[in-house]
Amino acid sequence: MKGTVYKSTGSWYTVKSEDGSFYECRIKGKFRIKGIKSTNPVAVGDNVVFELEKIGDETVAVISEIGDRKNYIIRKSVNLSKQTHIIAANLDQVFLLITLNNPPTFTSFIDRFLVTAEAYEIPVVLLFNKMDVYDDDQMVEVDYLIKLYRRIGYHCLDIAAKEGKNVDKVKELMIDKTSMFAGHSGVGKSTLVNALEPGLKLKTAEISEQHLQGQHTTTFAEMYDLSFNARIIDTPGIKGFGIVDMEKHEIGNYFPEFFKLKSECKFNNCLHLDEPKCAIKDALENEEVSWSRYRSYVQMITGEEENYRVDIYK
Ligand code: GDP
Ligand code: ZN
Repeated sequence: MKGTVYKSTGSWYTVKSEDGSFYECRIKGKFRIKGIKSTNPVAVGDNVVFELEKIGDETVAVISEIGDRKNYIIRKSVNLSKQTHIIAANLDQVFLLITLNNPPTFTSFIDRFLVTAEAYEIPVVLLFNKMDVYDDDQMVEVDYLIKLYRRIGYHCLDIAAKEGKNVDKVKELMIDKTSMFAGHSGVGKSTLVNALEPGLKLKTAEISEQHLQGQHTTTFAEMYDLSFNARIIDTPGIKGFGIVDMEKHEIGNYFPEFFKLKSECKFNNCLHLDEPKCAIKDALENEEVSWSRYRSYVQMITGEEENYRVDIYK
């Protein structure tokens, strides 16, 4: 039988079969998955093959095969072993909720998040929430940010989860897909999920780049079916969007607007810092590339952690 993993406790996996029924499955022997060594061979979102086996008087469902993953997000343990744990697999998209204040979401955070998502090959939708509370200056800032990220190619929506503004548009994007919600604590993730599916309470914890190496947790990711043919993966207790080990030279590849231009740099190993005839720095001058994005890039290259607000008047 074929199915999808909805929940994992480490030793048991809840699998929804193609006919819609749920099975508690074990794994068969030892799995070796191509490309990644992880503490858990099977993760929420995995497509699996399983069989019902008779052991004595009991019938046990056993996973025998795992389908190729189109993507996955990981967490590394903080102890010396640095073991990798797969949090979830086969995500269609992640919604990143952003608020200007209460709490503030800095562009440095947004850009780091986007780079990680690009590396993971997971599409991101940016949701600018709490649109009902912003004053005129803040509205200008939100407009600026939406234009900035749309120009790069990211899908952006202005929403007010509490009032229901544009919640139907979020819903539309979720149909037939598996989604995850991310953003600082207090940006409105639970409020939005409750507006999408009244009654569904997520256990979602903060997803913050500041705490990339989240603490150990005894809770596990879980997938939920929503009433409008959409799925959500909830990741309680997981504070990071995982870590992607990146070489300095790779980082620019995950800024789509840099990637388009980099073949025009004089040096093919250009880091776009102080090199002469750099197409990205030229693009900064004529405002094709934004200063806030460039600043995030430099921070990532140099490893600085400082948060900043975008100065839109520059
Ligand atoms: P979470 O930590 O991301 O799950 O955030 P919550 O959903 O718990 O929301 C945090 C606070 O922000 C709550 O007091 C919500 O009522 C409030 N909130 C969420 N969305 C909106 C919104 O669109 N407008 C306003 N004014 N408040 C909101
Ligand atoms: Zn360059």
